[in-house]
Amino acid sequence: MLVTLQRIVESVNKAADFQLALRTMVSQVRAALGTDSCSVFLADAQAHQYVMAASDGLADASGDPIRVDFGDGIISLAAQREEPLNIADIRNHPANKELLDSNESQYRALLAAPIIHRRKVLGIIVVHQSQARHFTREEEAFVVTLAAQLSVVIAHANTKGLLTHDHSPWVHSIQALPGSPGVAIGDAFVARPEVSLKEVSPQKTDRPRHEVRKFRQAVARTRAELKQLAERMYGQVPDDTLAIFDVYQGMLDAASLGSAVEEMIGQGWRAQTALKHVVEEFVDQFEALEDSYLRERATDVRDIGQRVLMHLQQRQRKRREFPEQGILVADEVTASMLAELPRAKIAGIISLRGSSNSHAAIMARSMGIPAVLGVDDIELHYFSEKVLIVDGYTGEVYINPPPQVREQYQHLADEEEELKSIVAEHAHLPAQTQDGQRVSLHLNLGLDIHQEYLRHLNIDGVGLYRSEIPFMMRDQLPTEDEQVEMYKEVLDYFPDQPVIMRTLDVGGDKPLPYLQLQEDNPFLGWRGIRLTLDHPEIFLVQVRAMLRASIGRSNLRILLPMITSVSEVEEASRLLKQAYFEVAEEQGCAVGVNLFQPQLGVMIEVPAAIYQLPMLASKVDFFSVGSNDLTQYLLAVDRNNRRVASLYDAYHPAVLASLDEIARRCEELGKPVSVCGELAGDPGGALLLVAMGYRQLSMNSYNIDRVRWILRNVRSSTLQVMLAKALQARRPEQVRSMISEKMESMGLGGFVRAGK
Ligand code: PEP
Ligand code: MG
Repeated sequence: MLVTLQRIVESVNKAADFQLALRTMVSQVRAALGTDSCSVFLADAQAHQYVMAASDGLADASGDPIRVDFGDGIISLAAQREEPLNIADIRNHPANKELLDSNESQYRALLAAPIIHRRKVLGIIVVHQSQARHFTREEEAFVVTLAAQLSVVIAHANTKGLLTHDHSPWVHSIQALPGSPGVAIGDAFVARPEVSLKEVSPQKTDRPRHEVRKFRQAVARTRAELKQLAERMYGQVPDDTLAIFDVYQGMLDAASLGSAVEEMIGQGWRAQTALKHVVEEFVDQFEALEDSYLRERATDVRDIGQRVLMHLQQRQRKRREFPEQGILVADEVTASMLAELPRAKIAGIISLRGSSNSHAAIMARSMGIPAVLGVDDIELHYFSEKVLIVDGYTGEVYINPPPQVREQYQHLADEEEELKSIVAEHAHLPAQTQDGQRVSLHLNLGLDIHQEYLRHLNIDGVGLYRSEIPFMMRDQLPTEDEQVEMYKEVLDYFPDQPVIMRTLDVGGDKPLPYLQLQEDNPFLGWRGIRLTLDHPEIFLVQVRAMLRASIGRSNLRILLPMITSVSEVEEASRLLKQAYFEVAEEQGCAVGVNLFQPQLGVMIEVPAAIYQLPMLASKVDFFSVGSNDLTQYLLAVDRNNRRVASLYDAYHPAVLASLDEIARRCEELGKPVSVCGELAGDPGGALLLVAMGYRQLSMNSYNIDRVRWILRNVRSSTLQVMLAKALQARRPEQVRSMISEKMESMGLGGFVRAGK
């Protein structure tokens, strides 16, 4: 039996066409069991029915697929009970309801096994036999095992949209990951790379100088091209897009890609070969990182590599007309791709690779373009010449939608436009509730700061500057002088507002390429303050650089990540004091006149810190809650592991209860506290946090005006009701639906779903 089972699963896996695979499978099962019929029914959630997808032995007189309403008959019973049913004679079974217009009446014995993937019933395998009998235990085990194996194949096919074809009863849709909110309708514009590093084959050269010259020319052309693209975008997009071009330029610097490529050319390799090798090594390094944000940087390195290659091969870019309202579909949507295309025409984005941390998603969010990502099993050509709907809230993509679905989405898209203008019109107003509770909104910074529009954002300061990002983009630690320049720039950007700089938060999950870290449990390992206290030379150089950058300014605040114990704060404070007096003396500063001792804060992101708040409070000036890590450590769920992604939820009642407790304790201690994790920029999350008493929220630039508008439309009393309900909820989904309902009732539904 086992061999037969393996053979069946193999042939299903190998089949080029999913429908064909199912047809082959039912015939093989029927033969293996020596029965009269085997069928597969798949759930159609929209129609609330199980629809027969393939059968050998069961037929509908009309030729249409047989349908069974959810809750009806024995087939539904197997799904409902989530266990196999082995019935000797269905005619005697109370749940029996004959399938209309089918030949089911000729069968008596039935064996049905639900096909379950991640706790969801996707369908049922049904075996029939004319002769009344109980199927043997072995036969039952065979079908149950097959159902378990099939579940993965069907879940996969579901996401690939393979269950549908033009005449199929299913609505033609694909499930991707939501990347940027909003809905868009348009014609597919499929973008394919014109050159590929993958296709470069290794070649040697005996003219290395000539190759280096060629490489440098190609880099110079790429630089000029990127500059042009950035200039083209300037003023058009009010956001992170331009910063990303600076990151690209940085990657081309001698310190990054350049020197490594030239070194390899020096060893006798052609420029293209060296470029391929170096880029692929960088890509591998980034892809091996645990931190999903940094892992996504592999895309940028690959994009830069392809650009340089294009110039090395002296290819001309082919111009294709972008549709008036187009949906950009690409294997990997990149920053430069977006810059090259006419912004006004890009209605939506589908990136086959990536996640919500990809640059494509970050940029789409900041440009306000709906986007979905992560559908990597579908070929690009599948989208060609199709009309597409992108739902950036749910991650759904509809392919050639029927007119009624299209109309519905068009209406929602129009409403979203209205909402956007309302939010923008109110951007200059303070963030306060209708009853006058003022909340200060701060910015999370990390990638880069060369974004002119940031100067004009209506914010109260920088709540989190993730200092590790520049450290990750290099092949060695930046020097103190280099760091001084970086920090000066940030402080100068916001001269009149507090800027909270977090000390290096690298470690197991964000390893530096030049610091060897191999750990079994990196998230529980050597990260954040643990690493920098073990390397006081790194910590001291960094805080000295921050202090030097702050000379003549008074807006620097310093924040320590991953604090677990009071002793860590004591040790860090001691080093900070040492650095302060050293810098004051070396630079001839008057203490407290042109060099201020910065306020010191700690992140509350390790649960242990919650129980030490009074002790910590006596050592620091402020707290900042890292809800991202706090969620991860409270729930014991790796924040980057897709397999447990559904368990990682900041709306978990335990997370909310601890956030509530932190707010209360900080209030009692009289210590300022803010939240700088993703929850602070989440519309529902921001409301709950304000209800808990947080008056300082730090988030990415995109959410600032949205959160402001939401706060201006609520009353504290309503927030208190929401919070009370959230704290009593048993599951995160209950919190989510309660928030959606409440926001809907306040006319703010447009922030949690499509439409206004
Ligand atoms: C957090 O953990 O919530 C946080 C803001 O820090 P990071 O996401 O950089 O770990
Ligand atoms: Mg953190």
